Amino acid sequence: MKKHNFSAGPCILPQEVFQEASQAVINFNNTGLSILEISHRSKEFVAVMEDARQLALELLGLEGKGYKALFLQGGASMEFLMVAYNLLEKKAAYLNTGTWSSKAIKEAKLFGEVNVVASSEDKKYNYIPKGYMIPTDVDYFHCTSNNTIFGTQMKVFPTTPKPMVCDMSSDIFSRVLDFSKFDLIYAGAQKNMGPAGTTLVIVKEDLLGKVTRQIPSMLDYKVHIEKDSMFNTPAVYPVYVSYLTLKWLKAQGGIKAIEEKNEKKAALLYSEIDINPCFKGYTATEDRSIMNATFNLTDESLKEDFEAMLKEAGINGLNGHRSVGGYRASMYNALSLESVQVLVDVMSDLERKA
Ligand SMILES: *Cc1c(COP(=O)(O)O)cnc(C)c1O
Repeated sequence: MKKHNFSAGPCILPQEVFQEASQAVINFNNTGLSILEISHRSKEFVAVMEDARQLALELLGLEGKGYKALFLQGGASMEFLMVAYNLLEKKAAYLNTGTWSSKAIKEAKLFGEVNVVASSEDKKYNYIPKGYMIPTDVDYFHCTSNNTIFGTQMKVFPTTPKPMVCDMSSDIFSRVLDFSKFDLIYAGAQKNMGPAGTTLVIVKEDLLGKVTRQIPSMLDYKVHIEKDSMFNTPAVYPVYVSYLTLKWLKAQGGIKAIEEKNEKKAALLYSEIDINPCFKGYTATEDRSIMNATFNLTDESLKEDFEAMLKEAGINGLNGHRSVGGYRASMYNALSLESVQVLVDVMSDLERKA
């Protein structure tokens, strides 16, 4: 039976990518060797790493603009501390829009003063704060573009003369933005780009080398840049699968084309949430994420029926995050409009039955 995978992460990837990636486990590029057993210094893998780094910049429109792309390890969670280690001298400004921002704030506090410019914690992060001021005496401003857990997404970004750092783990490569507004972008691969095990970091080189503290090599962006993202053994297979996904995205027409598809999927689901009396959306309408849609049943007694129907339809991964409950439909790049239609049909069937 066909499965419709709405998992928040690790997430669905294109079927073509699964096919090609599985082939490489047996025989990588006709080398007669598995990608799992070759040296990361082999010319075949060095080419993958270089192409992947280049393709990431190309898709984001950042080629030739002073940026470097790195594939690091430790997840986006490692970037919470690496960002502060490398950039925070005295004070930094953070926008708190949810669990991931809070975790980034917690780590940054170990390195200096943190000014939380605004927070939506008062309403359990169901909206994006607006109209806040970013002080001018900070080293950088940090925000989270998409709230994977609560289902909100920043539609506009503030303007500040200070460096902008953004955790784009769950919406990178999903929509067109002026990425050159950001000085550092990071994203755990497993939300919209690849399997778990690598983190994409895009950093403007002139941002680095300004803090006075000593930075251990593994946590120093400059070291990773100097070593072409191969300071130590990189996550060979996750980088390879991410590379295949980026190639797939380019073949689809890049970010602009995928954004149109993502908007159609989100519009289809949100319109059902809005017209179907069995459901209500969790977030403020204007801040709704096109990647992660969160919603609840209006009548909890329908829970058993609804979940049996989901199972019957082959829908996977719809449970809300354990801290929020309810439902969350993650509609990453590789999810088809047909899968969203299957979910919407189940929702309207429930209304008929209720
Ligand atoms: C999942 C997620 C993280 C944490 O990623 P790990 O790779 O598990 O460390 C951080 N930020 C956002 C926005 C996320 O969605």
